[in-house]
Amino acid sequence: MLVVKSPEKLTKSIVELKSKGKKIGFVPTMGFLHKGHLSLVRKSKKECDFTVVSIFVNPTQFGPKEDLSRYPRNLRRDSQMLRKAKVDFLFFPSANDIYPKGFCDFVNPGPLAKGLCGAKRPGHFRGVATVVNRLFQIVPANVAYFGQKDFQQARVIQDMVERFQIPTKIRICPIVREKDGLAMSSRNVYLSKSERIRAKSLSGSLRHAARLIRQGARNPAKIRAEMMRILKSNTDKIDYAAIVDSKRLRAQKHLKNTCLIAVACFVGKTRLIDNILVRV
Ligand code: AMP
Repeated sequence: MLVVKSPEKLTKSIVELKSKGKKIGFVPTMGFLHKGHLSLVRKSKKECDFTVVSIFVNPTQFGPKEDLSRYPRNLRRDSQMLRKAKVDFLFFPSANDIYPKGFCDFVNPGPLAKGLCGAKRPGHFRGVATVVNRLFQIVPANVAYFGQKDFQQARVIQDMVERFQIPTKIRICPIVREKDGLAMSSRNVYLSKSERIRAKSLSGSLRHAARLIRQGARNPAKIRAEMMRILKSNTDKIDYAAIVDSKRLRAQKHLKNTCLIAVACFVGKTRLIDNILVRV
């Protein structure tokens, strides 16, 4: 595995490989890797000739009161995991490499960024769209792999790629969970033992909602009320519990097609998100 810090060097290598007809897969991450990240790496390894993983804790997607400075980092462990997974390139840029002096190419994240996490984390998806656009300039991959765990993020990126006609295909991969249902996340290390137990309620509320839909429930307000009941008694603050259509991420009066059921809650001081897609 080649560890590359310089954007120019990486771009040169990727362009060269592509000119030889090689298919490039790209997995952007913020590091502190877990099995969720590795599932994206595996998918890329399976579908592409070369796999690039980036590790960059992107400051522009964190709000002023969020956890940028304490976001977990462990480059040594991450690179061991990626080496073992036979990743070809690890891109580990500095903030200056991504945002050189005078940087002004901020990206409007578009209409899909308005609701859900976008409403609760102002500027978050602007930061995400900006960094991913910049990463796609540096790594002009054939396919980029994103997790359904951050479904809104993946949809915002799919929409950006369409609007900007970026020739990278976006693949959304399933959520990898702990045995008890908790979605894997780098932020799970923040949880104390008792918070970790209460955190199960996020996936629990999603499963309950999905069950209600499978049993014929179609009124989102009623389903949401059931979710709120579970979340209220187990979490410390609910940012949202929402049922929206999976394409435009808008609320529906009567559920149809494929719905995204999504939650964001604080357990202690840790903000957790999770979601499930249900075909109605
Ligand atoms: P992050 O490092 O949290 O920015 O995540 C990097 C990528 O890994 C994003 O596309 C996430 O959606 C994806 N990811 C994070 N957690 C999981 C998970 N539990 N299962 C699948 N993908 C995930």
